[in-house]
This record gives sequence, C-alpha cells and structure tokens, in this order.
Amino acid sequence: MNTIQIAEKSFKILLENDNIEKRTRLIAIQINVDYEKRCPVFIGVLNGSFLFMADLLKEIDIPCEVGFIRVASYQNTESTGVIKEILGLSDDIRGRDIILVEDIVDTGFTLEHILKEIYIKEPASVKVCSLLLKPAALKAPIDELEYVGFEVANEFVVGYGLDYNGLGRNLKDIYKATD
Ligand code: 5GP
Repeated sequence: MNTIQIAEKSFKILLENDNIEKRTRLIAIQINVDYEKRCPVFIGVLNGSFLFMADLLKEIDIPCEVGFIRVASYQNTESTGVIKEILGLSDDIRGRDIILVEDIVDTGFTLEHILKEIYIKEPASVKVCSLLLKPAALKAPIDELEYVGFEVANEFVVGYGLDYNGLGRNLKDIYKATD
C-alpha cells in the first residue's frame, strides 16, 4: 500500500524496507572496516532508533558493545527545541570509541545536547550514525556525523521506528506526510 492513514494524517511511501536494508548493510560494512581491531560501543537513541539499531547491529561483525539512551525533545510534527534529560548514559564509556545511532537528525539540537553529555564522560572518540538526515533543517552542524543512510527533504516522516504521536513505529517502510 503506497498511502496510509495514521490518526487523522495521510502519509505516502518514501523509502521501502528493501532499500533501507540495503543501505544499512552498506553502512555496516563501512563501520566494520573503519573500526577493525577496535571494540566500539554502539549507543542507540530511543525510541526512534530501535529498528535501525537492530538491523545495523546484525550486520556488524567486529567485537562491540551495545547500549541505549533515551531523550525526549519532540512533540507533534514540529521540533520544539526543548531538550529534556538524557537517561541511561553509562559512566563506563570513558576511553571507549562511541558510535551514537540515531533515527533522524532534523535541527541537530538533540544530537548537539547528547554529544555534550557524552564528552563529559571522556570517551576516546565519538561518531554519529543516523538513518536519516534533513540537511535543509540542520541548524547545529555536527562534525561527528560520519554515517548517514538517506538525506530527506524537510518534511515529516514516519515508520521504521519513527512515530507520529506515538503511532507508526512498527511500520516496515518509511512514509512522508502528504500535507
Ligand atoms: P532535532 O533535535 O534534530 O531537531 O530532532 C531530532 C529528533 O526529533 C529525532 O530523533 C526524532 O525523534 C524527532 N524527529 C525529527 N524529525 C522527525 C520526523 O520527520 N519524523 C519523526 N517521526 N520524528 C522526527
């Protein structure tokens, strides 16, 4: 089905799961090469990254550790810029190579805030891997953004971990709002 309805909003297909899987595999291959002989810590940002994180990690074949953090800064279809507390960030990342895994980078403010908190813990290195990036919306440039799945236009997307008011995270494909 190419058009779907979530609550009162219509969405149409943007990225099919096949396409997402292929791109994810390529990113994993790149990470396997870049982190060869190292043991990075992948930190997924919940909730949006849970499917991407799972699919990505299944393709990672170097030794690694996995964790999740949680931050809420988004309401409805507009970024509020209000940053809330980061939960679950472990002290054990000191001296480690961190790969932060995000669903989407919009303004970049969330990531900027998370990175600040991560650097306080003195990791050896930090890179960001985001499935989606909205280049036109980016307000805080992120030097650490090394791996990007797809660049998308400045429109609201849902599916494959991303929600619309809590719904749609379970969709296999990614959809964009039609209005
Ligand atoms: P930023 O701080 O970069 O503006 O926003 C990042 C967070 O906002 C993402 O991790 C995601 O949770 C949410 N977000 C940004 N754009 C979208 C979007 O188009 N769709 C959905 N579902 N969430 C988004």
